[in-house]
Amino acid sequence: MRPAHLDLLLSPINKLKGVGPKIENIINKLGINLNIHFLWHFPYKIIEKKYYENIHDAPLNQFVTLKIEVIKHYPSKFRRQPYRVSCLANETAIDIVYFNARHPVIRSILPTKSFKMISGKLEFFKNKFQITHPSNIENVTDIQLLREKEPVYSLTAGLNMKTFIKLSNQVLDSIPNLKEWIEERLLLKYNFISWKEAIEKLHNPEIEDTYSEKNIFRRRLAFDELLAHQLAICIIRTIDNKKISVVFKNNNKLKNDLIKNLEFKLTNSQINVVDEIQKDLVSNKQMIRLLQGDVGSGKTIVALISMLTVIESGYQVTLMAPTSILAYQHYENISKLILNLPIEIDILTGKDKGKKRIEKLDKIKDGKTQIIIGTHALIQEGVKFKKLGLSVIDEQHRFGVYQRMAFNYKGFRPSILVMSATPIPRTLTLAAYGDMDESRLIEKPIGRKPIKTSSLTLKKEKNLIERIKKKINNSNDKFFWVCPLIEESQELDLKAATDRYIALNKIFKNKVMLIHGQLSEKDKELTMEKFKDEDYRILVATTVIEVGIDIKSATTIIIEHAERFGLAQLHQLRGRVGRNDEESYCILLHKENINDTAKKRLDIMTNTNDGFLIAEEDLKIRGPGEVLGKRQSGLPSFNIADLSYDGDLLEEAKLYAENIINYDPQLNQNKNLKDLLYIHERDTAIKTLNAG
Ligand code: ADP
Ligand code: MG
Repeated sequence: MRPAHLDLLLSPINKLKGVGPKIENIINKLGINLNIHFLWHFPYKIIEKKYYENIHDAPLNQFVTLKIEVIKHYPSKFRRQPYRVSCLANETAIDIVYFNARHPVIRSILPTKSFKMISGKLEFFKNKFQITHPSNIENVTDIQLLREKEPVYSLTAGLNMKTFIKLSNQVLDSIPNLKEWIEERLLLKYNFISWKEAIEKLHNPEIEDTYSEKNIFRRRLAFDELLAHQLAICIIRTIDNKKISVVFKNNNKLKNDLIKNLEFKLTNSQINVVDEIQKDLVSNKQMIRLLQGDVGSGKTIVALISMLTVIESGYQVTLMAPTSILAYQHYENISKLILNLPIEIDILTGKDKGKKRIEKLDKIKDGKTQIIIGTHALIQEGVKFKKLGLSVIDEQHRFGVYQRMAFNYKGFRPSILVMSATPIPRTLTLAAYGDMDESRLIEKPIGRKPIKTSSLTLKKEKNLIERIKKKINNSNDKFFWVCPLIEESQELDLKAATDRYIALNKIFKNKVMLIHGQLSEKDKELTMEKFKDEDYRILVATTVIEVGIDIKSATTIIIEHAERFGLAQLHQLRGRVGRNDEESYCILLHKENINDTAKKRLDIMTNTNDGFLIAEEDLKIRGPGEVLGKRQSGLPSFNIADLSYDGDLLEEAKLYAENIINYDPQLNQNKNLKDLLYIHERDTAIKTLNAG
């Protein structure tokens, strides 16, 4: 049961005084549905309106508050004429001016002979003081009560500031005193004041700085929000872990046999990551690990070695790829690598239908097939395993699949290894995956040279074509020529690529091919095969090639209108070359005049090959939602925290949450943390606690 002292905060706003269905609807549009949401809706600026007893002391053209006596109304006689209310501030004349005013309204708010406290910008016009459209008019009560600074909130149509502040204040005035949930050490470390005080300071600011990213009041609340998020993850994970977990025992025979037969030596980075994974597998905890490594860093072999450990312990493994092209690539690569090992491997994609599919499914079900490579077809209805021990998911840069995978097999908890080709900043993996462990391949296989990247304006296209001609005549090198997405329209997209294809084909007869997103999977594969095996030299592509194409003889990639691509995408595309030990190149073709952000992106690309660095820069430029792709990001949305600059707090919150849940998994000794979970609406976690 929710504790009673949180009732007011967590009630819908329609219980507040002055909220009828109409206002409720309007306020909901601001994302404010519960009273507590008023607390998270911070003012975005403050205006000063200092009270001056003597109008001659008050500065002109600034917001001030004055005490005035209403003398006489001069309503407008025609439309353009302003409505003037003649007043006195002490002995000095001042006009209050309205344009397009409704006469009765003004008469009622400024009755003749009344005294009022009036706030607004003080002007001096035609030898007279005046205030046009005062921002506030109050009765003269105790002047001490007057706020000299007024918060300004973002509003929406049909809502005025006064109404909003009145409602917001109803909630602000009744914030309960909640028991502190942050330990003293952290309060001191970050200079945090209490939850309640932090909220009050943000709504009633003394200094402008209040809204900056470094503001400690905001940071305090951001930490709370992140802590609630991390706690919720820990709780759900811990309770779940009571279920079955598998310990994979084996003597590494398969692994050693594989390594013995490899044509290359594992890099140190690969060896380290294999170790990290191995430790997870032989522990009694379900592994959920993210394996990050730039394109070409050799993730597949790491995954395969882990798979062998699991297979030797008597379990099956799957490897799921986002497209069937990639699935087939993995299938071929891995089949070759395990040629001499006693392991059954198969592939399952959407293409398998009818009898063939049933045969495959049967072999999977009775455990004959040990490695099953595939697409989403793997997690469809009807696919049953005998003993699934590990799921490897090659997500490229798509998120969120692993969750479905992880909980897909009733009573059984396969370990999960997610491979991501796009390096993801640590802040974002923490937020999106929360509890996932992380391994990074930071070293490229020996002999792999950094890709030489340069940028070139489209005007110099002719020079580029000449260079390509030379290279084609003197070597067997192949080229990718990528055309950009045009305003998300597939048709225009295709047209740009087709035009480019036609133009290049005129110059390089019968040496150019075209691949794009509207081709069927099968035609795409055929195109790729032909390009790889025959004497074609240039593959013109829409961004489809982003999704993993492995052609070692391609040494140059040209990206047309590179200014239209994001950093992550550029980096991903660039990774399509540089897959052997020859020198390789990336040429960023861009239009003449590009904006600063685009220029910065291209500069970063020409200066570094480090995917993790690029990812961090990307986060700074675009913010978290964009970096992960809004829809598929799997990122929780935060009210206060901003992952572009609160990453350090997220780390801290994770440690803090883990520590607490370790010694007090039911939060019996930390009941105040339940308050925290409630106010950040992590109700699922609370339900889990109550059920567990
Ligand atoms: P990615 O991380 O992009 O998935 P892959 O696993 O496909 O990379 O590996 C890219 C290529 O590098 C493959 O051809 C693979 O055989 C090769 N490779 C992997 N590890 C090494 C290594 N240690 N030394 C040399 N080549 C390697
Ligand atoms: Mg790969």
